[in-house]
Amino acid sequence: MAKIFCVANQKGGVGKTTTTVNLAAGLAKVGQRVLVVDLDPQGNATMGSGIDKRALELSVYDVLLESASVKEAKQTSEKVGYDVLGANRELAGAEVELVDLERRERRLKAALAAANDDYDFVLIDCPPSLSMLTLNGLCCAHGVVVPMQCEYFALEGLSDLVNTIKQVHANLNADLQIIGLLRVMFDPRITLQNQVSDQLKQHFGDKVFDTVIPRNVRLAEAPSYGLPGVVFDPSSKGAQAFVDFAREMVRRVGSM
Ligand code: ADP
Ligand code: MG
Repeated sequence: MAKIFCVANQKGGVGKTTTTVNLAAGLAKVGQRVLVVDLDPQGNATMGSGIDKRALELSVYDVLLESASVKEAKQTSEKVGYDVLGANRELAGAEVELVDLERRERRLKAALAAANDDYDFVLIDCPPSLSMLTLNGLCCAHGVVVPMQCEYFALEGLSDLVNTIKQVHANLNADLQIIGLLRVMFDPRITLQNQVSDQLKQHFGDKVFDTVIPRNVRLAEAPSYGLPGVVFDPSSKGAQAFVDFAREMVRRVGSM
């Protein structure tokens, strides 16, 4: 049975997509069967997995509107070692179209249930908002992975997300929990980042992942080659950290 995780944070540019594609590649590397679902109309996770978003015949949009199954719409990306349910600009329209439909926030859950036996992990890259799209992700997930930079306002932004997750947990999905906070783009030479990191551990204890993802230029360069950093430059510090993180996820999920 697949374990489903949303990679979410309302802020843009915090490393959601980088975390999604590199965790997926890391999990594939340690032998897990993985599906990435791109729920962001920008389609960055799609492109970053080597799939041209402009050439998609079927996408997550068709799945949400129930005109295609996950099996029909998914792409297999041999280079990266995992499957992708892609997204492009068309998905922005789904937001409006879903409003009038029944079970509007449970569409993705129903679709993924039919592909449950095909994967060990499903990773959902959420857009930087709490829209109907993000809600579809949160409704079907067992857990949320929250990438965050250790900056001054980091903790403040987190309280909105924590409240939203509590509401979804209470009203729509009793399985949902924060599986963990992932410190990303970390630079240990910056005192403030170390201080915020310590604060995070004080506030959230075990919910902070042991693995820390360093700021690493190879991770930032990889998307322009249509690859996750883990595949683009496996020996880089960033890639190694994401493979460690994949192992930590497997351990944590084993005890869920
Ligand atoms: P989001 O999906 O939350 O908007 P991205 O994953 O697209 O964020 O990351 C924002 C930018 O930061 C991208 O240009 C990405 O390449 C870069 N980036 C992300 N993580 C790292 C890292 N660990 N080291 C260096 N650059 C990073
Ligand atoms: Mg993104």
